[in-house]
Amino acid sequence: MSNFNKNNTHEVHYDAIVIGAGIAGLTVVLELAKENKQVLILDAQDEANVGGLARSAFGGMALIGTQEQKRSGIIDNAEIALKDWHAFAHFNEDDIYPKQWAKLYVERSYQDVYQYVKKLGVKFLPAVNWVERGLYAAGNSVPRYHVIWGTSLELVNKILAAIAPFKDKNIHFRFNCKVNQLLTEDKNSNKVIIGCQDNEHNKYLAANTIVASGGFTGNLTKVKQHWPKHFSPAPNNMLNGTHPSCDGAMHDEVSKLGGSVTHLDKMWNYAAGIPHPTPKFEHQGLSLIPCKSALWLDSTGKRIGPEPMVTGFDTNELCQRMSEQKQGYAWQVLNWRIASKEFAVSGAAHNQMIRDKKLFTMLKETLFGNHRLVKQMQHESDHFLVANSVDELTDKMNSITEKNHIKAQVLQQTLNDYDAILSRPSAQWNDDQIRRIEHARKWKPDKLRTCKPHPIQDEKHGPLIAIKVSLISRKSLGGIQTNLNSQVLNDNATPIKGLYAIGEASGFGGGGSNGEKSLEGTFLAGCLLTAQQAAKSININLVYNEKKNQDKQ
Ligand SMILES: Cc1cc2nc3c(=O)[nH]c(=O)nc-3n(C[C@H](O)[C@H](O)[C@H](O)COP(=O)(O)OP(=O)(O)OC[C@H]3O[C@@H](n4cnc5c(N)ncnc54)[C@H](O)[C@@H]3O)c2cc1C
Repeated sequence: MSNFNKNNTHEVHYDAIVIGAGIAGLTVVLELAKENKQVLILDAQDEANVGGLARSAFGGMALIGTQEQKRSGIIDNAEIALKDWHAFAHFNEDDIYPKQWAKLYVERSYQDVYQYVKKLGVKFLPAVNWVERGLYAAGNSVPRYHVIWGTSLELVNKILAAIAPFKDKNIHFRFNCKVNQLLTEDKNSNKVIIGCQDNEHNKYLAANTIVASGGFTGNLTKVKQHWPKHFSPAPNNMLNGTHPSCDGAMHDEVSKLGGSVTHLDKMWNYAAGIPHPTPKFEHQGLSLIPCKSALWLDSTGKRIGPEPMVTGFDTNELCQRMSEQKQGYAWQVLNWRIASKEFAVSGAAHNQMIRDKKLFTMLKETLFGNHRLVKQMQHESDHFLVANSVDELTDKMNSITEKNHIKAQVLQQTLNDYDAILSRPSAQWNDDQIRRIEHARKWKPDKLRTCKPHPIQDEKHGPLIAIKVSLISRKSLGGIQTNLNSQVLNDNATPIKGLYAIGEASGFGGGGSNGEKSLEGTFLAGCLLTAQQAAKSININLVYNEKKNQDKQ
């Protein structure tokens, strides 16, 4: 399998080479090894980071027609889901491949994601959450966001356990190995991909090369370069909610070889980021799940409106409105009671009770409030301010901005106006945020995590809290265009021989299967789906070629 060529570069031959050992890369190597293929999987990071972003992801998945949905009385099917998907995607006529992948997702999520991970031993929490309900267009008509018990780290560990018997027999890992070039050969003036080369000039050759290198939103320069045109310009203080390994370099490499890379302006960012208290890389941020009952205020302390900002309906819309904030940030003002009930941070690291499967503590914190997390944020983050009066809060807010933008009277008036509504009998509550909170609370899992509306300045629910939030990057919805076999397509929609793309690198299929907005939780699932489609195609092609060679002999 291995030899040195005349340039003394190390050449190794496999059935397939996978660039990136994230969840997509791990899934494809497992499926290829099951069919006795020889596979090399390369990753720029060290072994401790195997699994890529899925190690730190939360583990929510949009799934359709599951037992958990049925037990909660939810009627869902591919038809309903596809309608919802299109309502959010805003596909245009040319989006042939994104549309095909969207259809495949809703039709196959039950077998190829839900059943697939269950067979690996993954379990889901019984409560199905209702995210992205839609704002101006319908989103998820029904709840379908399923949370993995153990977060997606559990999924990574289960896949690694399934890989273990094949390790060093069929599946060969190589870490700390950054690929910088795809290798080609001209056949009848058509480019055929024959492998790749790493930073140390080692060449890896195979009939099939699979790009599983993730998205590009860990590269803030690229995020700003492709920033959606209908948003206000990307703010300078944007945070990085991904990882620098998601730099988009392989997208460029594929593009150089004629692969079509599409919809890079479609991204799934978040509106409420704060700087990571102990950053491991530049601009690293934490993405907060904003509290539905918190008021979003502009830099002067006025409520952002007239349409209030409320999470859980349309993340993309929240991001667009955040991009309009002149100073590049907004405030969320709330009280301790709201924070303990509703505040959360996206990802496994701040959801330890789910990650570490501590059922009792998780239930206790859901029912009585997660005071532990609120205290942690108060202690760790200088963007999370706690005060006993509006004056004290104003001083603290001004202390972390360049100028004293907040006037205590303005902030006081904002809070008084909102609290005045809530001091009336509930039949007279006339405010769109409160209407949405009340609608959310009708769904039991949301009721458990959303406070009964009450005045923010209610002393028994104090102290007051202000959080300074800004935009944070997260997922690339666009990417390398692929057909349903995960083969990379050129501008004429012809597959480039020997080249595949999966996972976030492929925009979760087709170079942008989510279109403009995701129904949320379509990312990990999209990685599993695109990886399995690639493996099926490669397995069939390799068997076919072997047979052809045998027939020739
Ligand atoms: C905090 C957080 C929470 C999330 N929560 C959810 C959630 O609840 N639900 C959901 O669906 N999604 C979630 N996501 C998104 C989801 O985790 C990702 O979309 C998914 O894991 C991407 O997997 P991937 O395998 O395509 O890419 P990645 O996980 O990015 O893996 C790509 C790998 O390729 C390697 N690589 C890159 N370039 C090269 C190169 N040139 N040479 C060699 N190796 C290279 C990288 O080191 C990396 O290990 C979350 C993401 C984050 C960050």
